[in-house]
Amino acid sequence: MSDTKTQGQKLEEQLLYKQKNIWEKASDDFIAKSFDFCEEYKRFLNAAKTEREFTAEAEKAAIAAGFKSLSSLTASKSKLKPGDRVYHINRKKSAVFAVIGNNPLADGVNILGAHIDAPRIDLKQNPLYEDTELAFFKTHYYGGLKKYQWLTIPLAIHGTIIKGDGSAVEIVIGESDDDPVFNITDLLPHLAREQMQKKMSEAVTGEGLNLLLGSIPYKDDKVKEKVKLNILSMLNKKYGIVEEDFQSAELEIVPAHKARDVGFDKSMVGGYGQDDRVCAYPALRAVLEIDTPQRTAVCLLTDKEEIGSMGNTGAQSNLLQDFLANIIALSEDSYSDLKLRSCLSGSKMLSADVNAAVDPNYDSVFEKRNATYLGRGIVLQKFTGSRGKYDASDASAEFVGEVRKLFNDNDIIWQSGELGKVDEGGGGTIAQYAANLGIDVLDCGIAVLSMHSPFEITSKVDIYTTYKAYKVFCTLK
Ligand code: MN
Ligand code: MN
Repeated sequence: MSDTKTQGQKLEEQLLYKQKNIWEKASDDFIAKSFDFCEEYKRFLNAAKTEREFTAEAEKAAIAAGFKSLSSLTASKSKLKPGDRVYHINRKKSAVFAVIGNNPLADGVNILGAHIDAPRIDLKQNPLYEDTELAFFKTHYYGGLKKYQWLTIPLAIHGTIIKGDGSAVEIVIGESDDDPVFNITDLLPHLAREQMQKKMSEAVTGEGLNLLLGSIPYKDDKVKEKVKLNILSMLNKKYGIVEEDFQSAELEIVPAHKARDVGFDKSMVGGYGQDDRVCAYPALRAVLEIDTPQRTAVCLLTDKEEIGSMGNTGAQSNLLQDFLANIIALSEDSYSDLKLRSCLSGSKMLSADVNAAVDPNYDSVFEKRNATYLGRGIVLQKFTGSRGKYDASDASAEFVGEVRKLFNDNDIIWQSGELGKVDEGGGGTIAQYAANLGIDVLDCGIAVLSMHSPFEITSKVDIYTTYKAYKVFCTLK
């Protein structure tokens, strides 16, 4: 039998836009590499559950890859030249990494921008109390989370305490196998008749998210709150802290579980904080690994995205401009504001953030022709926002076209989609803040199931595809 395709079938092949399932299209070698890459990714997820930890791990990896700190280069008045690798850590919670390209910086740079904070539960500043001979921490949740998902799961505490003398104590407890874990309790079903009638948004309150810490009283009849005192005494012995030290602490409660393979076929990664580490990690790897690019390649990692990107560590801060100004000053004979402005308006950025994968258990919220799917590759999202595109960052047709062509030319499998049906909800990323600076920005990341939950799920081939796509983006002329 020779050609059995009908005229119509041939025309379909030629004209129709079809999304591809990577598992069906990719070579065995590509799939093996995807699995290998995700072993490293899972290790990183386990080591970097908070923005501070991500920053610290990223700095270690950058130094190992030959990066020099901006402050050291500025101090030694070194001149930057093509191929030089430079980074800046901002207040231990956000960071920028760059590999200097052959073109002048005033031509613009290629930026991969991701956020490294994740929804979690923070301690209040006066957290410790005792009730019914049990000790608890009061908490204040951070970011958009469904509170009920955080009950009755093992939890860990990560963070920093600045003591009265100004010294810092780093805390990680609940991660190693012989550590204890912590927990937020839930009501037994036998007594939950009233609770079960409530709306899901009201069944668990913010003030109800109290973390269980201990139950052994300090043996002294003269003491009123014996369990609280016993906990404070243990913390004092271990960390040298007193109760007032919580006032100057940032302690974050995160799921204690490790990232794991999901499914009989191990095709997926499950873990906490994949929004947005599943994009931040490949973005960082792409920039750390690139040789001398044509245009300078930049990886921007920001904090506070989950609560609006405000503050001096968020994407609305001057972090990116200050960094670019500094590397312009170190690369050229003279610095001028015009060079910085020209650099910004000539720059291109992928806002590396996640999208909601279609979940067949909840398919009524997705418009399936314009939604994203596990296993279909990196997601191009032309615009974000909600309702009538309010608060959107909207990439131009020209820039989407440029990225689409780049990916097609380099065999990068991609899909496109928006976050849910029109008027169903929506969301934003750091894209708009970069776009406000005159940068061409496109949201471009990975589809996730159970986003913002303690155990988010992603596809291994999407992760590896995204890593390849980010590397290709760094070579964009
Ligand atoms: Mn995100
Ligand atoms: Mn998010």
